[in-house]
Amino acid sequence: MEKIGPTKVLMAAFEAVPFAKTGGLGDVAGSLPKYLKKEGVDIRVIMPKFLSIPEKYVQQMEFLCSFTVSVGWRNQYCGLFRLEHEGVTFYFVDNEYYFKRDKLYGYYDDAERVAYFSNAVLRSIAYLENFKPDVIHCNDWHTALIPVFLKEFYGGNPFYYDIRTMFTIHNLKFQGVFGKEIIGDVLGLAGHTAAEDCLDSDDAVNCLKAALFFTDVITTVSPTYAEEIKYEFFGEGLGWVMRLRSGSLHGILNGIDYDEFNPETDRALHRNYNRDTREEKIANKTALQRELGLPVREDVPMAAIVTRLTEQKGLDLLLFIADELVREDIQLVVLGTGEEKYEKELRALEKRNVGRVSAQLLFDEGLSRRIYAASDMFIMPSRFEPCGLSQIISMRYGTLPVVRETGGLKDTVTPYNEYTGEGTGFSFRNYNAHELLFTVKRAARLYRENKPAWDRLVTQAMDADFSWESSAKKYKEIYEELAEK
Ligand code: ADP
Repeated sequence: MEKIGPTKVLMAAFEAVPFAKTGGLGDVAGSLPKYLKKEGVDIRVIMPKFLSIPEKYVQQMEFLCSFTVSVGWRNQYCGLFRLEHEGVTFYFVDNEYYFKRDKLYGYYDDAERVAYFSNAVLRSIAYLENFKPDVIHCNDWHTALIPVFLKEFYGGNPFYYDIRTMFTIHNLKFQGVFGKEIIGDVLGLAGHTAAEDCLDSDDAVNCLKAALFFTDVITTVSPTYAEEIKYEFFGEGLGWVMRLRSGSLHGILNGIDYDEFNPETDRALHRNYNRDTREEKIANKTALQRELGLPVREDVPMAAIVTRLTEQKGLDLLLFIADELVREDIQLVVLGTGEEKYEKELRALEKRNVGRVSAQLLFDEGLSRRIYAASDMFIMPSRFEPCGLSQIISMRYGTLPVVRETGGLKDTVTPYNEYTGEGTGFSFRNYNAHELLFTVKRAARLYRENKPAWDRLVTQAMDADFSWESSAKKYKEIYEELAEK
């Protein structure tokens, strides 16, 4: 049956800026909807009402209704709040028992929290004013149970019959794997044989795997990653599922919010600048050197990293060569939180290289912006990278990325070609510490010895366009195809 009016999409995510963010997912779920709206998609977002949501937003929320949501054999309270933000409607699922906690994830009962949220999303649809979605757009394993519950619990209900699902993989590494005992007690799926089969993975429950079978369409966040995950090396044990469903798998590159990440207006910066006034980057560099207690020198190349401290991000490569790197008279600034072993090693690196390395082991949005603005290079030697936003942000801020050629890094950074002058950054192919070292050294040499060539690269990087417009159009196309089905 042909649909009338704009396609209606309910995006479900565990984080969305400016309400909650631990990484790229928050940026995407917070910014993509704005651009989809501009394309004429009637999109709304639903997420948990976390304790960490800034008070100024909580004050603006309007209570809509409450109802109960089943989690296995229990019935739990669910309050639904609503807030308009920059033209997009956000719904917040309220249950203090599950969401009034310090962090977003990492609790012993995460399986129950995501099961609750997934069912709450489906139940809430009956309460959204004049808004019955054609498509529920799920993001990462926290929402992986939505397609499963939709078919298993709501399949017989005509109201839900024509709702389709899209599932976006932001990072295949995180799958939501739990012990088998949750099937009945927490998920309420005992005896649902199709679901049990799809959830089963090495005698454990794998939420993401089930979603990949139950969802109508799968997307991931760059074309290269969409190809890579069909192979065992990148497939995180699910390469065979990706191959099986390759006909329904699309790679759509993430963008960034060009209003939000704009060196001309970014209030966190010491000095604002644009493509034509970018000599002001130097003032940002010296201000950051002062802020971090590094020697104040305009001429020294500054390399930066802003990241979750985890193996994925290639920290082992960096740590292996970092001492040698900074002996080349390069200042290294790291901002990140994560695994303790990396925090310890970074602290030790800083101690060994006073005045050359600054390791800021915290999550600080403002500082991250000042680092993007101040540095000359941004290092991202990821082992794998579904899309990566940091390299895109750094190009926007006129900082040249040095990346490993994988996933979205390969799709977004054009490596410098010294013969044609083409490029927006530097890249290397193998997961090898000395390839990284060589590539950063090569970049630093260009910075020191060939300013005009460096400047051209910076212009090209700042001119590269990774705003959401073209990707939003691709999402819209798939939503429309799904809504017609
Ligand atoms: P991922 O989603 O794998 O963490 P992305 O590159 O896609 O990586 O997105 C990371 C986002 O999180 C970027 O906006 C980056 O600036 C931000 N970020 C990461 N670590 C920190 C930190 N310690 N402080 C502030 N922002 C951070």
